This record gives sequence, C-alpha cells and structure tokens, in this order.
Amino acid sequence: MSPAPHLSLARRLDGVSESATLKLNSTIQAMKAKGIDVIGFTVGEPDFAVPPAAKEAVRKALDADKSKYTPSPGIPELREAVASKTNAQQPALAKTQPWKPADVIVTNGGKQALFNAFLALLNPGDEVLIPGPYWLSYPEMVKIAGGIPKFIAAPFSQGFKITPAQLKGALGPKVKALILNSPSNPTGAMYSRAELEALGQVLLSEPGAEGVWVISDEIYDRIVYNDRGDLPFCSFLDAVPALRERTITVNGMSKSAAMTGWRIGWSVAPKLVTDGMNTLQGQSTSGINSLAQWASVAALKLPESDFSSQLESYRRRRDLCLEILKKAPKIDLFQPQGAFYAFLGVGKHLRGGEDSMGFAERLLEGAKVAVVPGSPFGEPEFIRISFATDEKTIREGCERIVSFLAGE
Ligand code: PLP
Repeated sequence: MSPAPHLSLARRLDGVSESATLKLNSTIQAMKAKGIDVIGFTVGEPDFAVPPAAKEAVRKALDADKSKYTPSPGIPELREAVASKTNAQQPALAKTQPWKPADVIVTNGGKQALFNAFLALLNPGDEVLIPGPYWLSYPEMVKIAGGIPKFIAAPFSQGFKITPAQLKGALGPKVKALILNSPSNPTGAMYSRAELEALGQVLLSEPGAEGVWVISDEIYDRIVYNDRGDLPFCSFLDAVPALRERTITVNGMSKSAAMTGWRIGWSVAPKLVTDGMNTLQGQSTSGINSLAQWASVAALKLPESDFSSQLESYRRRRDLCLEILKKAPKIDLFQPQGAFYAFLGVGKHLRGGEDSMGFAERLLEGAKVAVVPGSPFGEPEFIRISFATDEKTIREGCERIVSFLAGE
C-alpha cells in the first residue's frame, strides 16, 4: 500500500543509506534458517567471550542496585578509567596536559560518539574529509548531520593511506573536519607515527586549516599486528600533541574487549566540543546503560596481557586467510596491519558493468560465502572479509573463494 500523499519523512533522510553490513547479516541468517550451508564473513564482531571480570562487575552492580540513571556523560569511575587509558596512549601530552574525567563522554558505542561529534560540529553545507575506503557509516552520519562528505582517495597502490599532499589539496573554506581511522575498517591499514605527524603538520601549517577538527577513530587500537616491530598502534594525538584543542578521540569496548552488545564507547575531547556533545546527549539518550558502564570499568582495569591470546588468535586467523587467498588468481591482496578484516581486490573478476555488489551476490550464490562488497566502503572493486571467526570456518570459506575465482 502506498503511503498517503500528505505523509512524509524529513529531508535529512534523503540519500542516507541503510547499513549494508546489518542488512547482509539478516540475509545470511535467513539462508542459514533454511538449512543452506553458508559461510558468513560479514560480521565486524569479535567472537571471543566477554572478560569474566566484566560479567562479575555487572552482577555486583545489580546486587548493589547501581541501576538507576547515571550522570549523562557517564559514571565518574568509567570517565576516570577512560581518561587514564587515553593518557597512557598519549604519554607526551599526559605529562603537560593530561585528559581529565571531565573531558570524557561515555556513549552508546563508538558509533554514537561519532554521531554526537558530527551533530555538535557541523553546520549545513560544512564539508568533512573522509579518506576512502572508509567505514561505511561515516558519510551517512555526516549527511544526517547536514554536512557534505568529501572523499580523499586512499587506493590499494598507496597502502590505503592518504598523503600530506592530498590532504593539503583537499582543504578549502568549507572543510570543518577530517576523519582518521587507524587501524582501518575495512582495509586493516595503519598509519605510522611519522605519517600521522606529517598529516598533522598540514593541519597546523596550512593557511585556512586553523578551523579544521580531527576526529580520530581508534576503536581497533588493541588489534595491531606490528609484524616487523615498526608499526605499533599510535594514537593520533601522541603523534601530533599540538592538535589537542582540535581533536576528538573516539574509542570503545566493542572491538577491544569483545563487548559489542554492551554498547559502550566514548569521546575524549577539549571542553568546547565536549560541552556541545554533552548537551546533545543529555537531550537525547540521557546517558548510557548503568550496568554496562560498571562492566566496562572492570574490563578497562584488566592488564594488557589478558588480551594477548586474542591478538595471537587474530594473527593466526589473518595469516591463514592470506595463505589460502594467495592462491587465488588475479586478485589484489593487502596484508592487514591491524583490525580483523581482509580487503580483497576483485576488479579483474568483475563482469561488464558489474561492481563488487554484483560480485558478492554471485559469490554468495555460487560458493555460498557471504562477504561485504566494497562499494558501500567507497571501493567498488574490492570485497571485505571479516576473519573474526574460527579457523575451520576461515579455511573452508577462503578455499571456497579460491575455487570460485579459479572457475571464473
Ligand atoms: N568505528 C569503526 C571503524 C567501526 O568499525 C565500528 C564498528 O564496526 C565502530 C566505529 C563502532 O563501534 P561500536 O559502536 O560498536 O563501538
């Protein structure tokens, strides 16, 4: 039935797409429900158990009735723990201008921190620089907030990174913010400290760049392979402390502690923007689930060593994935340096007029392997494979992809 002509939705939804990954996940669930043997490589979600300390903290919080409204920006204990974590990742800055609990807002996942940031910063028509391939929600969030996404190409040939010259060339009077995401979803690429410094230098020295904010999405900070010992995680502000007053660091529990469903993320930012984001949060969600906040306090107190077996497991899975996919003919294979995705170039396998969307459909149909097409990530000739799953599934799924490509 078509809707009555006088009913309509807000124009802000025009041109905003629904999340391609969430949509694909429901297709796979439906196929599985019909008994089809489908391998799902689409979910951006760690398959590890939640740390027992987090579960225990929830039980305790519940027994102590700590389940009322919390302060809108989060419970002081969690804001304190987040400030300490951030200071530990930005040691140079921590000596002179450490982040304080008041600089932290706890949000409904990292996603809401990003959403709040765009709503707080953007006026209609403001541009946001987004290196592409990008996490698919960035442009949609920018559009909802009234902004205009402006893409900077970070192709395979550049290791999926932008250069300082490209950043300089993309600046302009309407540019309000730059998004950085290292390690990256969907590519697994990472910027080195020197590369971040060089990008930061452009924002510090270019005339007209004084009003450009940086939103640094560091949600994959703990999943870093550092294969040769020269690419450890580097927080943007540790590389460019001089941009402290213009940077919003976003992070959360979803990827680092396998706590996706708890919906705990945060922003760490200077007062001007924190105050704005806090007003938005106070008038929208009122704050975040109290029990999940207590769980996060406990998880943030765990030593790094508690997570090293997860990292080693991701490394084995990544290596297995690469070892098998290497056998596929005519593909571009990038070795992820962080996160848990392999981004695979299938341009030479695309049929006339087809993009990765069509390819992914053929792969699902022909090999019963579900991957996310690169198109919604801004890279139409690539597909994304999430290797946050067990080795048996990775082996079977990657072998199926190789056979499928060989039969093309
Ligand atoms: N940023 C990136 C790059 C992501 O991949 C994700 C999740 O997939 C998020 C942010 C948001 O994560 P969450 O809202 O679960 O904290």
